[in-house]
Amino acid sequence: MKLGCSYFGNRILKHFLHDLEELRAMGCDFVVHTYSENDMVFCHAAVADLVAATKDAGLEAWIDPWGVGKVFGGEAFSNFVMQNVDAMQVLSDDLPTGAACPNNPKFRAFMRQWTEAAASTGAQTAFWDEPHFYIPSWLGGRPNTWGCRCAHCQRLFLEQMGKPMPREETAEVRAFKETCVESFLRELTAYAAQLGLENALCVLPHRDTAHGTANWERLAQIRPLRVFGTDPYWLAAKRDIDYVRQASREVVSIARANNVEPQIWLQGFGIPAGKEDELVRAVEIMCEEGVQNIAVWGVYACEHLSWIRPANPKLAWEKIKEAFRRAKGLSV
Ligand SMILES: [Zn+2]
Repeated sequence: MKLGCSYFGNRILKHFLHDLEELRAMGCDFVVHTYSENDMVFCHAAVADLVAATKDAGLEAWIDPWGVGKVFGGEAFSNFVMQNVDAMQVLSDDLPTGAACPNNPKFRAFMRQWTEAAASTGAQTAFWDEPHFYIPSWLGGRPNTWGCRCAHCQRLFLEQMGKPMPREETAEVRAFKETCVESFLRELTAYAAQLGLENALCVLPHRDTAHGTANWERLAQIRPLRVFGTDPYWLAAKRDIDYVRQASREVVSIARANNVEPQIWLQGFGIPAGKEDELVRAVEIMCEEGVQNIAVWGVYACEHLSWIRPANPKLAWEKIKEAFRRAKGLSV
């Protein structure tokens, strides 16, 4: 059983060393460090210090393109998008949106730079976190629009499908987006491997074909992936806890069929009052389904990321620690 936790919101080494001891004591084997565009520009050496401390403590250091280009999940804003308006996704209303296009060559080049910088922190695994095409319900989205219809997407669609890209988001458009996300991830994982990084992929849990990552069977075949997983945040999705079982079962089945390691993320944020015991149950369910790589988002139950702070953050964090100790078979 391997356990991990995401870490963000602090770049001060002495504070991290304190937090790291808590993560180690709760049974964590790896720490997923967010490495946003802000970190890349302003905190590179400081993140490298956190990575080094993680490895010195005997834990594996993962690195996450948090919010990069707004193509990956995460609260961090994107400087790349601000500086490259010509690389933004264009929506069905012919207006750009605040997310880079995975098909744009400038963004592809930027992601290679990000990967080089991420590898040079000393991290061991690149964690490709919720890659996706534009999602209208996310921050800054516009209702009843879809993307991307930029010049690069239109050109590629014409080449691949032999006809112009339609205005409607047809099944063909969705299949095209799936191919594009796969191509984007194949390039990134191959480059990361070339730089000495292992690769882990976390896909969005809702298998909605609009964002391009619904076909888990296809994405789990990408090499050189070592880990394939998802993040069934049941409370955020307003689902019952069976959502965790369903996702765990599917990920285990698909990962095993493709000889990669299944991983499931635990919702460690936004826990309503009275729901804290579900954290323990969710991890039990993952274990029952055969998941042996479990990570939680994120450290201290995200008390410091206050828009998703649990009603009782300290209780939620205690329950996460209890769940982890149980998963490791340690005394509760
Ligand atoms: Zn595009």
